Amino acid sequence: MQLNQIIRADILAMTAYKVTEVPADCIKLDAMESPYEYADDLKAELAKELTNTPLRLYPTPYARGLPDAIRALHKIDAGADILLGTGSDELIRLLTMLTGQAGSTMLALEPSFVMYRVNAEFFGMKYVGVPLNDDFTMNVEAVLAAIAEHQPQLIFIAYPNNPTGVPFSVDDVNRIIAAAPGLVVIDEAYGAFSSHTFLSQAGSIENVVVLRTLSKIGFAGIRVGYAVGHPSVMHELRKITPPYNMNQLSLTAAKFALQYHQFIDEHINKQKSERERMRTMLKAWSQIHVFPSEGNFITMRVPDAQALHQALLDANILIKNLHGVHPLLDQCVRITVGKPEQNQQVLGVMQKLYGTKA
Ligand SMILES: *Cc1c(COP(=O)(O)O)cnc(C)c1O
Repeated sequence: MQLNQIIRADILAMTAYKVTEVPADCIKLDAMESPYEYADDLKAELAKELTNTPLRLYPTPYARGLPDAIRALHKIDAGADILLGTGSDELIRLLTMLTGQAGSTMLALEPSFVMYRVNAEFFGMKYVGVPLNDDFTMNVEAVLAAIAEHQPQLIFIAYPNNPTGVPFSVDDVNRIIAAAPGLVVIDEAYGAFSSHTFLSQAGSIENVVVLRTLSKIGFAGIRVGYAVGHPSVMHELRKITPPYNMNQLSLTAAKFALQYHQFIDEHINKQKSERERMRTMLKAWSQIHVFPSEGNFITMRVPDAQALHQALLDANILIKNLHGVHPLLDQCVRITVGKPEQNQQVLGVMQKLYGTKA
């Protein structure tokens, strides 16, 4: 078989998204997973519910009540429609498929979540990336000019943005929504850690779709995300969604998670206060620039990103080296906020590198 004769040339030329496989005992602060687990009694209760999940049946999320639980949690307006996905990743792909064809354009900010651009490539869309300012705020005039010039069918805004964490101005995002000729997807993967959400606009403004996920709040392993939007757009999105895209075990675990949301909230609040404690400690080093963050991670510029990455790895701690990912991320690293004792270990390694200022 000649792969180059049967597989798309653009796919043959791509490189796969690299998932880092790490030893089980590694302190994993590279992918914004929650460091917290359920207490043993809750684990036992979940185990019982998983045992009673009807695995022989195809999944029926609506009958099982997950969209209703999501609606109740966020007080989502009855006029808005909710669609579940296997992680928000699947919804990003479906939204791109919905609008992607030869001649259509996706616009996103740079640097941001890499999967936007990757999906544009999958579906033959032209990709326009508008650079952020040096301090990772949005250059809204540049975005509006690019919208006027390229008339994108699809715009992705990660709010808060990954990998930078810096919040954008709500007014700026609203100006983009008003100016956009097509869909504006507000990706709120870190919405739980942020002080603002666009969920109330999903459903009332036709071109707004808000994405949320359980991944960054303790359930990356079950792959559950959701899109909230206007019924006219969601109706079209449903046509291209695989009929049984969710799985029964994930539906059970997600419903359980929402039922005990007070534990999720507790963990979110711990991570938020640890984020601020860490930022204060880190800022004591004059050689480090710590960016503001509304996510469960901290992005900072250090003297030598590779050296810090390696020093932490030597201490069995994995973080994300962002150097080389985008010119604006020169010598930057991103660290997921862990448990207090894990964060102390990070600070300990940094003290050896940078001295004992903190
Ligand atoms: C992590 C992340 C996602 C992917 O979330 P899943 O629900 O796990 O697929 C989407 N968008 C952004 C900005 C992210 O950082």
